[in-house]
Amino acid sequence: MRAADLPEDFDHVLYSQEEVASRIAEIATVIDHDYAGREPLLVGVLNGAVMTMADLCRAMKVHCQMDWMAVSSYGAGTKSSGVVRILKDLTTDIKDRDVLIVEDIIDTGLTLSYLVDNLRTREPASLEIMAMFRKPEALTAPVDVKYIGYDIPNEFVVGFGLDYAGRYRNLTDVATLAEHVYK
Ligand code: 5GP
Repeated sequence: MRAADLPEDFDHVLYSQEEVASRIAEIATVIDHDYAGREPLLVGVLNGAVMTMADLCRAMKVHCQMDWMAVSSYGAGTKSSGVVRILKDLTTDIKDRDVLIVEDIIDTGLTLSYLVDNLRTREPASLEIMAMFRKPEALTAPVDVKYIGYDIPNEFVVGFGLDYAGRYRNLTDVATLAEHVYK
């Protein structure tokens, strides 16, 4: 689905499908270079990172493997509290592996900082993060992100895996919602 298919649902498009694809290709080239001769394990954070993972790994030219984690953060409403519960853990033993966490968006950074702490205890050879979007204004738990798609303003976005009430993950552009959708 493109934003133009449902124009009344969106306020404005931040990045088109084409822009996202070309940014992913650029990041994949850097990752190929950084991981030359190695075989990283890409760890996707469900559900939002599904599209980023699918497009990133297919744009990469080095061998890689994939695994998934699902987490839920405790807290009232839509704000992350920093207390994270693992709903689905990895099936891979990451000891001595080169692990690259693939995340959709970083808001407060609380989810990722929990994940990094948790995965570090399993003694990977290396642990890096790729995030498609980052909201720097809201970053209360600073995390060291090696690969970043776009820094975006502090507004709620949907598309490319990011949902609102379960919808819009299949939107191929990245957009903000029209007010009537959530009011
Ligand atoms: P953090 O722990 O960094 O505050 O929260 C990150 C998670 O919050 C993301 O993985 C995503 O699920 C959700 N999130 C944060 N900002 C947005 C946004 O603008 N749009 C959507 N759809 N989800 C968001």
